[in-house]
Amino acid sequence: MEELRQRILSEGQVRPGDVLKVDSFLNHQIDPVLLDHLGAEFARLFSDRPVNKILTIEASGIALAIAAAPHFGNVPVVFAKKGESVNLDGDKYRARVHSYTHGNDYDLLLSKRFLGEDDHVVIIDDFLANGNALEGMIEICSAAGATIEGFGIAIEKGHQVGGKRLREEGWNLQSLAIIESMDPDTGEVTFRD
Ligand code: 5GP
Repeated sequence: MEELRQRILSEGQVRPGDVLKVDSFLNHQIDPVLLDHLGAEFARLFSDRPVNKILTIEASGIALAIAAAPHFGNVPVVFAKKGESVNLDGDKYRARVHSYTHGNDYDLLLSKRFLGEDDHVVIIDDFLANGNALEGMIEICSAAGATIEGFGIAIEKGHQVGGKRLREEGWNLQSLAIIESMDPDTGEVTFRD
């Protein structure tokens, strides 16, 4: 998606550890107009799928999922929490995930009340790197008996293994910008066509 690529090129910063910083429009300050456009594009890409719920992961996925929901016909959005919370009681699904940006392991938690076998979900997230977060969501959906209609990712780092693995497994993975390479010395970012 050209609009997203241009924002990455003009505002993205390449950081050591293969991290792209896009905190001026996606990860800290948020551009609602851009996110609305990303949400519309996700809806277009999944228009042939019977989606009745959007799943995401706190924190950065939430804004993107909320922006997308009206374009999917105002389906509910459920976000998996990272770790225990007093607001999360009752039975819950749980998956252990390794964090790309923090380097530690954490639990993804989602209340059993909000995901079940009648659900057909699109899982939306801001970044795809090695795919650990999405594998955790697959585990949770599988435990719930929910059907995954696809994955909608804003920025996939195509030089890392997550996207390749998920496509090989046959999942419907739609990424709005796929980075081919990024150079921390020059700051140069190139995209896959
Ligand atoms: P994965 O589980 O695919 O290895 O990593 C995905 C998660 O790590 C995303 O939810 C995102 O929060 C974070 N992440 C991975 N790579 C980047 C990056 O280059 N920049 C930012 N801002 N977050 C990233």
